[in-house]
Amino acid sequence: MSLSLTPQAHGHLGHTDPDCLFCKIVAGKIPSKFVYQDDEIFVFHDIHPWAPVHFLMIPKAHIPSLAHVGAEHEGLLGRMMVLASKLALQEGCNPYPDGGFRMLSNTGAEGGQEVHHLHIHVMGGPRPWIKS
Ligand code: AMP
Ligand code: ZN
Repeated sequence: MSLSLTPQAHGHLGHTDPDCLFCKIVAGKIPSKFVYQDDEIFVFHDIHPWAPVHFLMIPKAHIPSLAHVGAEHEGLLGRMMVLASKLALQEGCNPYPDGGFRMLSNTGAEGGQEVHHLHIHVMGGPRPWIKS
């Protein structure tokens, strides 16, 4: 039997990577500025914010990137999308349509991904931002 993991197998709910920065944050081994958690999602503020409000939404399971998700993750990703708007308002983004927020998930080297645990940036607040 092959020892290599397929992306899907690597992304099963419950899998964690002891060497992963964001898995360590979920486990409480590295401190973070907490926003929200439930059984499968963890949310915390970005340590280097690009906008007045800037938090990261991650699955608690170690899924390396959006390139690794399959049909089994549709529910999880949908719940993250739905949760974003509520948390954006809670964390200080102004309401739609004059306010709002931006969602971004860097994927792979050419996508600008630095931390290889799937995360969605949620950014908002009054402009101008540093990176727009
Ligand atoms: P990227 O992988 O390029 O989409 O971005 C990774 C993001 O993680 C960057 O915006 C970092 O500022 C952020 N980051 C790195 N380490 C931490 C940490 N310990 N706590 C919170 N955010 C972090
Ligand atoms: Zn991880």
